[in-house]
Amino acid sequence: MTTQTDRELLPCPWCGGKVKGTVVEGSTFRWRCVVGCCTDGPEVRHDTLANDQAAAEIDSRDRAITAWNTRAAAALGAEA
Ligand SMILES: [Zn+2]
Repeated sequence: MTTQTDRELLPCPWCGGKVKGTVVEGSTFRWRCVVGCCTDGPEVRHDTLANDQAAAEIDSRDRAITAWNTRAAAALGAEA
C-alpha cells in the first residue's frame, strides 16, 4: 500500500535531499515507514486489527512522518 500526505517533511539529514512523504509498508504489513532518500524512515507500528482501517492508516502515516522528522531534526542538530 502506498499513500501520499500533505504534511511537510524535513529534508534528508544525510544529503539534504527532498523527501516526498510517501508512506509504504515496512518490513511486514504491520509496519509503516516514510520512503526516504539515502535511507527510509523509522518504522512505526500499524494497527492491523483496528475496526476502522482507513483511520488507522491515517494515524500510522502520521506517526511515520513524525518519526522521520524527529530523526531528521536530531541528525541535523547533531551536525550543527
Ligand atoms: Zn539523502
